[in-house]
Amino acid sequence: MIYGFERPLFGDIALRIHLVVGDRYAVMIDTGMLGFEDMVKQALDFLNQQGVPLAFIVNTHAHHDHIGLNGWVQAQTAARVIGHAWGRRWTEDPDTNYQEFVLAFPDIIADSQALREEVRDTMGIPAPVDMGVTGREHFYPGGFDVELIELSGHVLGEVGLLVAEDKTLITGDVLIGLNLPMFHGYVDPEQFRKSLGTIRDLVTAGRVTRLRSAHLPELHDPAEIMEHVAQREQAVRNIESLILDIARGDALSLKEIWLRTSDASGKRPEFRGLAMVAGHLRQQCRGGRMEVQRDRYRTL
Ligand SMILES: [Zn+2]
Repeated sequence: MIYGFERPLFGDIALRIHLVVGDRYAVMIDTGMLGFEDMVKQALDFLNQQGVPLAFIVNTHAHHDHIGLNGWVQAQTAARVIGHAWGRRWTEDPDTNYQEFVLAFPDIIADSQALREEVRDTMGIPAPVDMGVTGREHFYPGGFDVELIELSGHVLGEVGLLVAEDKTLITGDVLIGLNLPMFHGYVDPEQFRKSLGTIRDLVTAGRVTRLRSAHLPELHDPAEIMEHVAQREQAVRNIESLILDIARGDALSLKEIWLRTSDASGKRPEFRGLAMVAGHLRQQCRGGRMEVQRDRYRTL
C-alpha cells in the first residue's frame, strides 16, 4: 500500500514522491517540482488504474522540490493540501519561499539568475494549504492507520508519515544528504537533533523497521536506519565543534565563519550552509558558549 515514484535529481541522488493507498482513498507524499511532471503523472495514472481517489497531498516540508507541483496535481484531482503549519506561507507563495529560503542574508548572498533557476523557477502554480499540522494527527485511508510525526529542524516545519502496520516511516529530508557538494543543511540544530532522536526512539520501540525518503535509497532494517541517524548526529557534532574552533580567537562575522566552515568541510559555500551556520551561532549564543557583538561572533 506504499508506493514510491522517482527520477534522478543529480548524480546518484533521486527525487521521489510516495503514495499511501488505502481502500477508501490515497495520500500523495510530496509533489516534486517543475520538470518532474512525468514522475507525478505515473503516480496519478497508477491511482486511476486502482480506482482510488487522491484525497490528500501531504508536503513533508515546504522546500521547492517537495511542493513544486502541488497546483499541477490539484488541477487534476480533488486533493486537499496538508503540510506543517510552519510552512504554509512558503507553500502558498513561491516568492516569499525563495526570498526567505535563499536570500535570507541578502548582504552575503545576492539574488542571481542561477539561484532563481535552481529554486524559484522550479515551483509551479501554488495551491492553498487546506490544513496545517504539527505531528500526531492521524489518517484513516481505509484498512490501516497513518500517523504524522514531527521531524522539523532541516526546515522549521517538517513532518513524516508513520504507516504503523508496515512499520514504515516516510520522510522528506530529515535524513539529510551528507555526500553532496554543499551542505544539505538544517536551520535549527537543536530541533534537528530532537527529530533524529524521534526516529531513534521509533526504531528502538520497534515501531519503525523501514524508512523511505525523498532522496535516499530505501532503508530496509533497523540497524541501517540507526546507522543513518548516528551519521547525522555525528555530522551535527562535527560542524558544531568546527564552528566553535573557528571563532575561538578573533571575533568573526557570520560570513567569515560560514566561508571557513564550508572550506574546512570541503563544501561549496551556498545558502543552505549559510542558514545552517547561522542556526548554530544562534544556538551557541543562547547557550552561552559564544557571544555576539556588533555582528561578530566569538567563542567564550
Ligand atoms: Zn528540504
